Amino acid sequence: MNNSNLSFWERDSYLNRDFIVIGGGIIGLSTAISIRERAPNASILVLERGLFPSGASTKNAGFACFGSLTEILSDYERIGEAATLEVIERRWHGLHILRNRLGDQAIGFEQYGGYELLFDEQASAIEHIDHVNSLLHPLFQRDVFSVNPTAIEQFGLNADLVNSVVENPFEGQIHTGKMMQALTRYASERGIEIRTGAKVVHLSDTGSRVEVTCRHEGESVNFSATHVAVCTNALIPDLLPELSIKPGRGQVLITAPIENLRIKGAFHFDEGFYYFRNVGDRVLFGGGRNLDFEGEETSEFGLTPNIQDTLEQLLTSVILPDTPFNIEQRWAGIMGFSTTKMPVVTRVSERITVGFGCNGMGVALGSEIGSTAAAMCCA
Ligand SMILES: Cc1cc2nc3c(=O)[nH]c(=O)nc-3n(C[C@H](O)[C@H](O)[C@H](O)COP(=O)(O)OP(=O)(O)OC[C@H]3O[C@@H](n4cnc5c(N)ncnc54)[C@H](O)[C@@H]3O)c2cc1C
Repeated sequence: MNNSNLSFWERDSYLNRDFIVIGGGIIGLSTAISIRERAPNASILVLERGLFPSGASTKNAGFACFGSLTEILSDYERIGEAATLEVIERRWHGLHILRNRLGDQAIGFEQYGGYELLFDEQASAIEHIDHVNSLLHPLFQRDVFSVNPTAIEQFGLNADLVNSVVENPFEGQIHTGKMMQALTRYASERGIEIRTGAKVVHLSDTGSRVEVTCRHEGESVNFSATHVAVCTNALIPDLLPELSIKPGRGQVLITAPIENLRIKGAFHFDEGFYYFRNVGDRVLFGGGRNLDFEGEETSEFGLTPNIQDTLEQLLTSVILPDTPFNIEQRWAGIMGFSTTKMPVVTRVSERITVGFGCNGMGVALGSEIGSTAAAMCCA
């Protein structure tokens, strides 16, 4: 039943908004905040299905990154140099929006640098460093990538397996939970209403407004807005089946605290398919989606022995070869991938805008996509 038992007051005060944003992840909240910056007096409502954001934004590894060397080289192959550079610039810009908006302390931002491990098979990537640096120079004003000859020893990595380490001083890391809490607080303080436990099941542009049907505890409630932004990441096709976005599950583990831990910074290998970092004196390690692309193309949370065992083996053999550790926790989150590997902000009708396509790098890109989506909503 729709709105059947709503009071006069509820209908009068709760249902109609200038803007509704569906999805309370980093893109959804950033879109709502950027709309507020453009429309100071507008009423803005965020509808989030989870008790708190329940996709990728509270599950991620917290790398404030814009692409490792081998990832950038792989992107050159897939989408060309110009598109690769464009997306790096948008990530870098997005990261600045996030840091300026919330402040480094509130998001637990630390800049220990980024490091990419190259095994023998990838060592030839080093030959391309000068070229990549020259392309990135206009954005960063100095070299981004260089071989660090002491890193293997410094971080206690397995010297028999790791051929070399490429350093990127611009990379940082955040506390994902603090960042999302700070973003939620920032939005609330600016009069953005956030409703959780509010799963949107249908939306339609009627020609004058957008009707948004939400399910909560078995009841349907119909909201309406002059403009709607859909920011539900991998689940966008549930509401807009015409859009193509593929889910990709990311599995992660974290160790218990390790005495005298030498790992410090944000590390990647294998074109970004594996990533690890320190969280205080713990190691967080994730990835391995490339071991089973088909199986991991799912929007179901869950862990698989194949990937978890591989993560554990790599932790023992490559990352902490001389250090005993215990694994304290494991989890998964769901990423969304655009077919072009580019972010997508588009209108699907006059009053419905969609923003997605962080492609596994939403910490940096999320605020930029939100800003672009807000501009489209308000145009
Ligand atoms: C394990 C893992 C590690 C990662 N590590 C990093 C990293 O280190 N650095 C980095 O930059 N990126 C990382 N990412 C990617 C990053 O988290 C994402 O790119 C980013 O969070 C995407 O933000 P989003 O707002 O588009 O999506 P989401 O965070 O998924 O937000 C979408 C929201 O929409 C809600 N929703 C869905 N359907 C509905 C509906 N019908 N009605 C209402 N609400 C709905 C969901 O509950 C969800 O909260 C990682 C991702 C994962 C899974």
